[in-house]
Amino acid sequence: YLYPNVLHQLYWGYRESFLCIHLNFNSFVTRTNTCGELRSAHVGQEVTLYGWIQYQRQGLFLVLRDFQGLTQIIIPQDEAHSHVKKLLSNAPVESVVRVTGTVSLRPPGQENPKMPTGDIEVKVETAEILNSCKKLPFEIKDFIKKTEALRMQYRYLDLRSFQLQYNLRLRSQIVMRMREYLCNLHGFVDVETPTLFKRTPGGAKEFLVPSREAGKFYSLPQSPQQFKQLLMVGGLDRYFQVARCYRDEGSRPDRQPEFTQIDIEMSFVDQAGIQRLIEGLLQYSWPEERGSITTPFPSMTYEESLADYGTDKPDTRFGMKIVDISDFLRRSDIRFVQNALSYPRGTVKAICIPQGMVSDAFTYCLYNFPDSEIAPSHSPPSLLQCSALGSLRLESADLLEAAGLVLRDPTVFHFLWVVDFPLFLPNEENPTELESAHHPFTAPHPSDTSLLYSDPTKVRSQHYDLVLNGNEVGGGSIRIHSAEQQRFVLEKVLKEDSEVLSHLLEALEFGAPPHGGIALGLDRLISLIVDAPSIRDVIAFPKSFKGRDLMGNAPDYVTPEELEPYHIQVSWPLAEKEAKNP
Ligand code: ASP
Repeated sequence: YLYPNVLHQLYWGYRESFLCIHLNFNSFVTRTNTCGELRSAHVGQEVTLYGWIQYQRQGLFLVLRDFQGLTQIIIPQDEAHSHVKKLLSNAPVESVVRVTGTVSLRPPGQENPKMPTGDIEVKVETAEILNSCKKLPFEIKDFIKKTEALRMQYRYLDLRSFQLQYNLRLRSQIVMRMREYLCNLHGFVDVETPTLFKRTPGGAKEFLVPSREAGKFYSLPQSPQQFKQLLMVGGLDRYFQVARCYRDEGSRPDRQPEFTQIDIEMSFVDQAGIQRLIEGLLQYSWPEERGSITTPFPSMTYEESLADYGTDKPDTRFGMKIVDISDFLRRSDIRFVQNALSYPRGTVKAICIPQGMVSDAFTYCLYNFPDSEIAPSHSPPSLLQCSALGSLRLESADLLEAAGLVLRDPTVFHFLWVVDFPLFLPNEENPTELESAHHPFTAPHPSDTSLLYSDPTKVRSQHYDLVLNGNEVGGGSIRIHSAEQQRFVLEKVLKEDSEVLSHLLEALEFGAPPHGGIALGLDRLISLIVDAPSIRDVIAFPKSFKGRDLMGNAPDYVTPEELEPYHIQVSWPLAEKEAKNP
């Protein structure tokens, strides 16, 4: 039981040191103590505990568990208590019970130094089985392996594990600290924005919600982007929200169709202002047990990031940068190398694993020559071209780590700003058209504004991403606040119908202040902080990677009668088998 107790000590340490308040877990209820609270100082006290039976041994003792810890309970063996003995010896594991008894020291030699309550035990006087537990689908012990599908089907049981308790409680505390920093120290206003809205151009695919007006649908917003900008027009000045966002992006292993952002917007701010705010926010809310983080975070341009790491979210915890070895190889007589270099912008790049890091150092090479359609010869290397090298770098790191080398220390946190993104990128499906690298409300870099009208592909933007250990954990931008410029971007560059955004365009004409913001992906951030294998481990009720709730079985069929008010008919006949067995 070292593992859960270590988690708990860390967690309570965090609360005590950061909150500096005494938490009363026993207010309003009839227990005197939690199962993690009793120490030798309590010896002699009569206590009442509530909890679940973690295990029970031969009618002699049991271990009671609640959110805070474990306490050993001694079952009385004398005749006068025979009914208590019978009750507790027969109760199945995970039944929920009340026990009342006296705290005593464990007999010498029987203390358990790995348990915070390991010096004491409670000698039961009376007990009550509040609810018995039927045969479990899996044991509630962190070290017992179970499939994720089963864990999700019985999520309420999985939530009883110390690991999930720890993850959700730490998440709650971090959000609490963030609120404190934003609202109490810096005057931000927590505003809720609608989740029933309408389609927004660009960006992710949105979920539709039918309405009673024939043919009309709401959309669930992919983020509160438009509302937060409109709040700036409304003079709110500093907004934040723990915002639920929705993206119908289909099956992706580590994405959720609904997820949470710490969403922020400020008036009269520049890029550096937003960056300092986020650094301060993370430093203030960072759990002490995860070490400290140093600010300001380093910064890298998009171009540098692609060239050195082959990605716009580089993992900077280790070197092995991509290097251009074309010049070095130019005089070689290796045919395929010469062939690669004969292209107009042909290069040969390599990742070097330094001698000594592994006994037989190895080097990967990959040819990288431009495809004239993707990268016109005057433009810098594109993400597409660099990403093969970037993946290779990460794969090399995986290989080296599998061979026993530690490249990425799990206790180390490398934050990084990636800046100076291009404002537009070639559309993935149709490379002759442009799409926003961030979203269509992002302002051009001040020194590139005139290029917007002459050569939009060359414009850098005021978009910044926050990267942590190779994961994008946030992104934002300074916004366009001129209606004329916003209209130009939508209509002339992105070829979007600006009519759907007429409310926003009009608002910009009524004295909209210059403004900018950012959103942090809370689920991903917390999963990195707790070193969880998946973001599902920091969400109470996550969806499967196919977007299903395996516990309640959502989404589900509805009857034709239920669809009628929405003027919707399912056009294909539902085969009976399909309906019964989706
Ligand atoms: N709304 C943006 C997003 O969800 C963040 C921002 O620009 O503030 O990525």
